[in-house]
Amino acid sequence: MRILVIEDEEKVARFIQRGLEEEQYIVDVAHDGKTGLDMACSDDYDVIILDIMLPGKSGFDVLQELRAMDITTPIIILTARGSTEDRVRGLDLGADDYLPKPFHLEELAARVRSILRRSSTQKSTKITVGDLVLDTAAHLVWRGNKEIELTAKEYALLEFLMRNKHRIVSRTMIMQHVWKDPLSPMSNIIEVYIKRLRSKIEFDGKRFIHNVRGIGYRIKEPNGDE
Ligand code: CA
Repeated sequence: MRILVIEDEEKVARFIQRGLEEEQYIVDVAHDGKTGLDMACSDDYDVIILDIMLPGKSGFDVLQELRAMDITTPIIILTARGSTEDRVRGLDLGADDYLPKPFHLEELAARVRSILRRSSTQKSTKITVGDLVLDTAAHLVWRGNKEIELTAKEYALLEFLMRNKHRIVSRTMIMQHVWKDPLSPMSNIIEVYIKRLRSKIEFDGKRFIHNVRGIGYRIKEPNGDE
């Protein structure tokens, strides 16, 4: 599950990001409305957490433009406490929920879960590649009937590969989306995690994860056309 946080106050953004990452969500952050809007348009997020008071383009502008482009990603707006006007305006513009600031992380996480439950009844949360199944809502992975136990990072890497199944994902993309770090040329962390994933998923020798030399990786059904 991928969440976009659009919040200009770095401390608040970091607090939300850390909290949600502990719940095993993949979290991207934008610190202004324009960047947030671009990211929301170009990427596939499951929930957007949107602050209203943003420099330049306000949260209301972002909300309005996203809905005008038929982007229906669920949005939780962060409003000033006591501002009924902001809440009403946000909901009228197409927000799905609101949370007054300051808030407890537990409440934000509960609202995210609630929104994901509601939207998961509309779309499947399962991604399949052959008999490999990943449930993005439950954070569970199976090969056939066998449940595969993964660490949080292994899971995040597999989810990223499976969301892009059949497509080549570069090492740079993996580093940005899974580790949120620029790629250090000397680092072999991706190779290490790919190897661990393979040992857990490809236990019967069936190959899912393919190296694309010099570029990155691709996940696809075993025994497909090479
Ligand atoms: Ca703000």
